[in-house]
Amino acid sequence: MIRILLRFAVYFLLFLLLRSFLRNLFGGSRAQVPRSRTPQPPPVPAGGELKKDPVCGTYVSTATSFTKTVHGEVLYFCSKECLDRYGKAKHYGDPKTGS
Ligand SMILES: [Zn+2]
Repeated sequence: MIRILLRFAVYFLLFLLLRSFLRNLFGGSRAQVPRSRTPQPPPVPAGGELKKDPVCGTYVSTATSFTKTVHGEVLYFCSKECLDRYGKAKHYGDPKTGS
Protein backbone atom coordinates (compact mmCIF):
# COMPACT_ATOMS: atom_id res chain seq x y z
CA MET A 1 0.00 0.00 0.00
CA ILE A 2 2.78 2.43 0.95
CA ARG A 3 4.54 1.67 -2.31
CA ILE A 4 1.51 2.87 -4.25
CA LEU A 5 1.35 6.03 -2.20
CA LEU A 6 5.05 6.66 -2.80
CA ARG A 7 4.65 6.18 -6.51
CA PHE A 8 1.71 8.55 -6.47
CA ALA A 9 3.81 11.14 -4.63
CA VAL A 10 6.58 10.80 -7.22
CA TYR A 11 4.14 11.30 -10.05
CA PHE A 12 2.69 14.28 -8.29
CA LEU A 13 6.15 15.82 -7.88
CA LEU A 14 6.90 15.19 -11.54
CA PHE A 15 3.62 16.81 -12.45
CA LEU A 16 4.48 19.88 -10.36
CA LEU A 17 7.92 20.12 -11.95
CA LEU A 18 6.47 19.82 -15.42
CA ARG A 19 3.86 22.42 -14.69
CA SER A 20 6.37 24.97 -13.39
CA PHE A 21 8.59 24.21 -16.37
CA LEU A 22 5.76 24.83 -18.81
CA ARG A 23 4.75 27.95 -16.94
CA ASN A 24 8.30 29.29 -17.30
CA LEU A 25 8.31 28.38 -20.96
CA PHE A 26 5.02 30.04 -21.92
CA GLY A 27 4.10 32.38 -19.09
CA GLY A 28 7.61 33.79 -18.87
CA SER A 29 7.88 34.66 -22.52
CA ARG A 30 4.33 35.94 -22.64
CA ALA A 31 4.97 38.31 -19.74
CA GLN A 32 7.63 40.11 -21.75
CA VAL A 33 5.39 40.76 -24.74
CA PRO A 34 3.54 43.88 -23.46
CA ARG A 35 6.84 45.65 -22.88
CA SER A 36 7.75 45.53 -26.57
CA ARG A 37 4.35 46.60 -27.81
CA THR A 38 4.83 48.29 -31.15
CA PRO A 39 2.71 51.38 -31.74
CA GLN A 40 1.02 50.61 -35.03
CA PRO A 41 -1.33 52.94 -36.86
CA PRO A 42 -4.91 51.82 -37.32
CA PRO A 43 -5.49 49.80 -40.52
CA VAL A 44 -7.91 52.41 -41.83
CA PRO A 45 -6.41 55.89 -41.91
CA ALA A 46 -8.58 58.84 -41.06
CA GLY A 47 -10.10 60.68 -43.98
CA GLY A 48 -10.35 57.62 -46.17
CA GLU A 49 -13.70 56.28 -47.22
CA LEU A 50 -14.37 52.56 -46.95
CA LYS A 51 -15.09 50.74 -50.18
CA LYS A 52 -15.67 47.06 -50.78
CA ASP A 53 -13.09 45.12 -52.70
CA PRO A 54 -15.15 43.33 -55.43
CA VAL A 55 -12.68 40.43 -55.58
CA CYS A 56 -12.18 39.31 -51.99
CA GLY A 57 -14.91 41.34 -50.28
CA THR A 58 -12.60 43.20 -47.92
CA TYR A 59 -13.43 46.77 -47.06
CA VAL A 60 -10.54 49.02 -48.01
CA SER A 61 -9.83 52.68 -47.48
CA THR A 62 -9.93 54.83 -50.59
CA ALA A 63 -6.77 56.52 -49.34
CA THR A 64 -4.65 53.37 -49.45
CA SER A 65 -6.37 51.07 -51.91
CA PHE A 66 -5.53 50.21 -55.50
CA THR A 67 -8.03 51.71 -57.90
CA LYS A 68 -9.27 50.79 -61.33
CA THR A 69 -11.86 52.63 -63.38
CA VAL A 70 -14.29 50.34 -65.17
CA HIS A 71 -17.03 51.91 -67.33
CA GLY A 72 -16.65 55.20 -65.48
CA GLU A 73 -16.99 53.49 -62.11
CA VAL A 74 -14.01 53.58 -59.76
CA LEU A 75 -13.30 50.23 -58.12
CA TYR A 76 -11.13 49.82 -55.05
CA PHE A 77 -8.89 46.84 -54.35
CA CYS A 78 -7.06 45.85 -51.18
CA SER A 79 -3.98 44.68 -53.03
CA LYS A 80 -2.31 44.43 -56.41
CA GLU A 81 -3.19 40.74 -56.44
CA CYS A 82 -6.89 41.50 -56.27
CA LEU A 83 -6.52 44.13 -58.96
CA ASP A 84 -4.81 41.63 -61.24
CA ARG A 85 -7.32 38.93 -60.38
CA TYR A 86 -10.18 41.28 -61.27
CA GLY A 87 -8.62 41.94 -64.66
CA LYS A 88 -8.26 38.20 -65.30
CA ALA A 89 -11.74 37.40 -64.04
CA LYS A 90 -13.25 39.83 -66.54
CA HIS A 91 -12.43 37.36 -69.29
CA TYR A 92 -14.58 34.71 -67.69
CA GLY A 93 -17.60 36.85 -66.95
CA ASP A 94 -18.93 38.98 -64.13
CA PRO A 95 -16.47 38.84 -61.23
CA LYS A 96 -19.11 40.04 -58.79
CA THR A 97 -21.06 36.80 -59.01
CA GLY A 98 -18.09 34.45 -58.93
CA SER A 99 -16.08 34.67 -55.75
ZN1 LIG B 1 -8.82 42.06 -52.04
